[in-house]
Amino acid sequence: MINTLKRFAALWLVLLSMQAAVAQQQQLQSPAQFLGYELGKQFSTQSRILDYVNYLAVQAPNRIKVEEYGRTYENRPLVLAYVASDENLQRLEQIRENNLRQASLLGGSIQGEQPAIVWLSYNVHGNESVSSEAVLQVLYDLVNPENAQSREWLQNTIVILDPMVNPDGRERYVQWYNQASNRGGNASPYAWEHWEPWPGGRPNHYYFDLNRDWAWQTQVESQQRLKVYNSWLPQVHADFHEMGAESPYYFSPAAKPFHESITPWQRQFQNTIGEYNRQYFDKNNWLYFTRESFDLFYPSYGDTWPTYNGAIGMTYEQGGSGRAGLAYKKADGDTLTLTDRIAHHVAASEATIKAASEKANELKQEFQKYYSTSLKNPGGEYKSFVLKSTANTAGNLKALTDYLQQQGIQYGYAANKGSVRGYNYLNGKTESIKLAPQDVVISMYQPKSVLVKVLFEPKSALEDSLTYDITSWALPYAYGVQAYAVKGRVGMSQTAPAAPAAAAINIEKPYAYLARWNGLEDLKFATQLMQQQVKVRMAELPFEMDGTTYEAGTLIITRTGNERLGDKFDATVRELAQQYGVQLTATNTGFVSSGADFGSGSVRYLKAPKVALLSGEGVSPYGFGEVWHFFEQQINYPVTVLNTSYFSQVPLQEFDVLILPTGSYAKVLDDKTLEKLQDWVRGGGKLIALESAVNYLAGKKGFELKKKDAEEEEKEAAKKERKDKDPYENLRSYAAREREALESEVQGSIFRVDLDKTHPLAFGYGDSYFALIRSADTFQFMEDGWNVGVLKKNNHVAGYVGQGAKKQLQDALILGTQRLGRGEIVYLADNPLFRGFWQGGKLMFGNAVFVVGQ
Ligand SMILES: [Zn+2]
Repeated sequence: MINTLKRFAALWLVLLSMQAAVAQQQQLQSPAQFLGYELGKQFSTQSRILDYVNYLAVQAPNRIKVEEYGRTYENRPLVLAYVASDENLQRLEQIRENNLRQASLLGGSIQGEQPAIVWLSYNVHGNESVSSEAVLQVLYDLVNPENAQSREWLQNTIVILDPMVNPDGRERYVQWYNQASNRGGNASPYAWEHWEPWPGGRPNHYYFDLNRDWAWQTQVESQQRLKVYNSWLPQVHADFHEMGAESPYYFSPAAKPFHESITPWQRQFQNTIGEYNRQYFDKNNWLYFTRESFDLFYPSYGDTWPTYNGAIGMTYEQGGSGRAGLAYKKADGDTLTLTDRIAHHVAASEATIKAASEKANELKQEFQKYYSTSLKNPGGEYKSFVLKSTANTAGNLKALTDYLQQQGIQYGYAANKGSVRGYNYLNGKTESIKLAPQDVVISMYQPKSVLVKVLFEPKSALEDSLTYDITSWALPYAYGVQAYAVKGRVGMSQTAPAAPAAAAINIEKPYAYLARWNGLEDLKFATQLMQQQVKVRMAELPFEMDGTTYEAGTLIITRTGNERLGDKFDATVRELAQQYGVQLTATNTGFVSSGADFGSGSVRYLKAPKVALLSGEGVSPYGFGEVWHFFEQQINYPVTVLNTSYFSQVPLQEFDVLILPTGSYAKVLDDKTLEKLQDWVRGGGKLIALESAVNYLAGKKGFELKKKDAEEEEKEAAKKERKDKDPYENLRSYAAREREALESEVQGSIFRVDLDKTHPLAFGYGDSYFALIRSADTFQFMEDGWNVGVLKKNNHVAGYVGQGAKKQLQDALILGTQRLGRGEIVYLADNPLFRGFWQGGKLMFGNAVFVVGQ
């Protein structure tokens, strides 16, 4: 009896709790109710954040729809939440299509009432970790049916939210912080939890800064996001960040310089949104600043790229980032808490949505006007860009047209064979061009003409040199293609002319296969052959055969040496050539009409190298990541990552090549380790140093390289001269200090580098190469070494160079090699892999790894 009673009581309790659950379901849970802690009391992991987002989608299917749009390199989901009124949520697809019609990117007429579209991106920098906490409150406020204000906004506005743009980076930070922090957080700036370890959570898996990748699209996160973004093209895009913990809050209007392509209305609306933010911040007595630091010029940010695509693009910056943790005591004695940081980003999010909703009609009209002007009356002095199709640059041109497709930029082919006059990017002269049917033509008369102008114009007008990033990037230089900017229209056909039929290989078992060496695809072809155990050779000298000239660097894949592969030899070579678009020539002889026969000592066997790459404390995570990404994601070749923490113990004889990315090496390479490194090179190793690693080695015993100190000498001389003229010369203006510092800098500017094309480091290039120079650290010509890439006088092409840096960038070495014993040292003071987007530099780096010293 007692047992039965107990059982009855238990059942009754279960029923009660089920009832409570039902009641709770009707009431939407806040983030705190759902997570079990108040927002700001601890950092939430991605899985908990997604749990809440998905919970909202289940509870309020008439308000919010959630969609996975991709995966990160570490296989974490990338997710978008669409929040709209019941009615609009049901016709999302129609709204999306309507919007593309407004932008002239889709045919047909607009159906029904069109809302404004706002896109909010959170946590693109992983350790700016407040954003993905704040978005939970924003989502709750938008979805909560009892919130009258958001109900009103959603009448005429839809909001697309990306709660975590960079999950790999954010998890790196949050997992570390949750392990390292005191219970509830310790505000002392000296507590371990405020000192994030190498490499930091800001970048993604390969340590790329995703807020520098909107225009270049080198990372999977950006590629998948851009696809959805381009299918929507919102009227407003806001990107949520954090800056140093001592700074308060930044919102638009942005700082100068603005790119000249930003329309007056876009400038004005930056002010309008700033006005809405101001009201929220003033009401709460919160500190903020505007019009400083964050400019709108470099096209690859989350504010500029959307701006060049017709949106109002904005950056919001909260003070905090990887330094601030849960609580941080600032210099002024106040404690900054995560709770404060959340409140500010929530306010800015809501101010943005409110502004868009109250100005929805204006936004829609101006968006439509932006695109119709772009299509019918594009800006800029050039109206067409012609990309010449040449045998040597076919691979680079293909990479560039693939890129145009990614960006939604339309292009065609030259329709007439006539001539036009155009500005030649290679020599800076305006001259006559003979058009050929394979030439690619990009017309400015298209919806995305602003983006075309920004990416293609030979020189970008900089209204102020105080900017945050590189100052030139014109794609013909970045891709190393022959291009012309033309003032008029060039007749264009939409269909590609039939490619000239590839010469069939009519020799079944040739003596050798030949392939040209011109671009990244050729490098992929060669390195894949190596991995399939096919022996590959390379001609060190140009040669002639059957009336055709082959440049130095031509691949020669002989049957001899590959007999052990049997029939697989021919199949492997042909299949890989097809896969990488490599044109093969088959020959029945090793005898050439001029140059060296295939058995000559100057036809080198390319041994597949075992490559090691240094990472860790002291090495720049970005510089390391660029090389890591190159091997793993671009050419798919094995690389062993070492770490500075145990580097001195590594038996280097295990490797053929060691790469030192840019970094600060003083603590990594002490005298003893340097000696060990040189012993290894003397024994046949190849050391490749990049950027500041080159700087570190220069002047050290055994290294031939010496710094060029023109800058210091020049500065001293100039100073003395000024002093002689003006006794008050030393009374400099304090306010001008930032500008003066710029005097000795070069800010990502394009230079023509003169090459010794007979050296293996320059194989596949002509007499020159366009480099993106970001440092005035240059070197003297080596007496005992090869000066492969040099800057002579007047080699500057585009971008900002300070007066003080000009001399330093003349008559200087930037690419060189030296022999040491049986080994080789390669100095790449210019990093050809910078941000993974300088397509024209990739073969140079491939030469350093796979060709030099073989
Ligand atoms: Zn940031």
